[in-house]
Amino acid sequence: MEVTTEEWLKHNVIVTSIEAVLNWARGNSMWPLTSGLACCSIEMMHASASRFDLSRFGYEVFRPSPRQADVMLTTGTLTWKMAPVFVKLYEQMPDPKFVVAMGSCAISGGPFVDSYSVVPGIDKVVPVDVFIPGCPPRPEALIHAMIELKRKIQHPDVVEKQRIERLSGHGW
Ligand code: SF4
Repeated sequence: MEVTTEEWLKHNVIVTSIEAVLNWARGNSMWPLTSGLACCSIEMMHASASRFDLSRFGYEVFRPSPRQADVMLTTGTLTWKMAPVFVKLYEQMPDPKFVVAMGSCAISGGPFVDSYSVVPGIDKVVPVDVFIPGCPPRPEALIHAMIELKRKIQHPDVVEKQRIERLSGHGW
C-alpha cells in the first residue's frame, strides 16, 4: 500500500516549540532542594526510599545546594527567625524554579499557627506552586504533588485556564 506524504508526515514528524521541549524535560527531571524543617521531612524521606520510590518518576536527585536545585520541597514549620535564610535559599535557586509546601505547617503554620515565632504559611515569604494538605501528608501525597507540579510545568497554559475557570465557577 502506498503511503501518502501527508500520512508519512503525520507518523514521522513532530512539530513543537523549544519552550515545550524544555518544559517536557523539566517536568520529567526535577531536582528538589531538601528544605526539611520539621517532622513532615520523615515522610519526604519515605517517599524517596525503596517502598515508595520517588525515583520512578525522575525526581530522586535531592540536592543540598540551592544552586543545583529547581524545586524547593518544604516540609515542616518555618519560623520567623529562619525565614530570611529560607528566602535566601529560594533566591539562590536558578530560574525557572518551583516551590512545594508539604503539610499543614508549611501551608498555614499548622498546630503552631498561633505562636509568635511561626510563619503562618510559607506563601507569606515565597511563591508556592503546589500545596499538600495533611499532618503529615503520606508519601503517596508527595508523589501526587510532584506529578501535579509536572503537569503545571509541562502545560502552563492549560493549568492557568483551569484555574481561571475554577475561580469563575465554571470548572472542576
Ligand atoms: S504538618 Fe504536622 S507532621 Fe508536618 S511538620 Fe507540621 S506538625 Fe509536623
